[in-house]
Amino acid sequence: MTDSRIILAADDNRQIRMLVKAALNSLGHEIIEAEDGEQALDLAIRRRPDLVLLDVTMPKLDGWEVLRFLRQRPETSAVRVMMLTTSAQRVDLEHGTSLGCDDYLTKPFTPAELRKRVERMLAE
Ligand SMILES: [Mg+2]
Repeated sequence: MTDSRIILAADDNRQIRMLVKAALNSLGHEIIEAEDGEQALDLAIRRRPDLVLLDVTMPKLDGWEVLRFLRQRPETSAVRVMMLTTSAQRVDLEHGTSLGCDDYLTKPFTPAELRKRVERMLAE
């Protein structure tokens, strides 16, 4: 990997954010963190990440609301978004696809799985 990208990891669970950072560390990208939906939206607008990993259940704004706002704003409308869901939320994925999420990953996921999916998304 030659070019460094910015990845926004938005999850209210600190352990998940740490897992994401540890899993993606070897790819050499800058990883920024948000612990609620408002912070995620704010960072996405200010830092223009290449990829957003977006938890569904977060305080203030949930992941679907953040996704909707991202798609509405010209400066973030094209950002790649991978939703982090639980198996119980899979039923919502049709909804998520209509809102414009590019991919989703069901928790719990392994570091290798996350790394593979992120590399694939950034290569597209
Ligand atoms: Mg959550």
